[in-house]
Amino acid sequence: MSKQAIGILGGTFDPIHFGHLRLAEEMLELAELQKILFIPAGTPPNRDTPQVSAQHRSAMVRLAIADQPAFILDEREADRTTPCYTVDTLRELRAELGAAQPLCLLMGGDAFLQLHTWHEWERLFELAHIVVGYRPGFTLEERINSATEKLRRHYQQRLCAVAALSQHPSGGVVELAIPKLEISATLIRSRVAENRSIRYLLPNPVADYIHQHQLYKPC
Ligand code: ATP
Repeated sequence: MSKQAIGILGGTFDPIHFGHLRLAEEMLELAELQKILFIPAGTPPNRDTPQVSAQHRSAMVRLAIADQPAFILDEREADRTTPCYTVDTLRELRAELGAAQPLCLLMGGDAFLQLHTWHEWERLFELAHIVVGYRPGFTLEERINSATEKLRRHYQQRLCAVAALSQHPSGGVVELAIPKLEISATLIRSRVAENRSIRYLLPNPVADYIHQHQLYKPC
């Protein structure tokens, strides 16, 4: 029996911007997902502490996705103060949604090539499919040789078509050609710090929120 998959997009979202939103919209369409859960990280184990609180970052995600009913804010990681690992979040979601529900962890090609550095990374394949967005014209296959031997083997054995996502609850790797917008949260934070415009890099309600709460200004 097939069941439409649910996508999971984790990130610091410090702040959320059109790069994230376009990635999610393209994946929703191309991977034929039922919906996408946006999960802002609380205390991310793999990178620097976010500049603003999880509450502000969640509020900005809520504003950004308000007009897309298939995008849902999930605040489970934001509420935690201890380091939260993707594998634990997936275990929680799996317990809530049941063993048969297909789940897709969404990420960019660069993140996938670093997957072997994630906590309990091989367990991820038991809990979800992984859907990887890469720039049109560059396939992951061409770059997988720079990954570790173990990751390369998982990739080669698990690569499948979109149709397989709804047939199994987890275990597949799907590649999708998705144009990447040259926008990053880092770029937005530096523009704000320099009193420069951030218009057209992110939704207007998020830009208004940043200005209203004076986020990303140097102390
Ligand atoms: P920072 O600049 O602070 O490192 P970021 O803009 O890269 O942040 P994250 O919250 O780290 O944002 O990203 C969450 C997810 O969104 C990651 O899987 C990342 O690959 C993806 N992503 C971020 N920016 C883009 C973009 N412009 N186009 C497509 N995917 C993106």
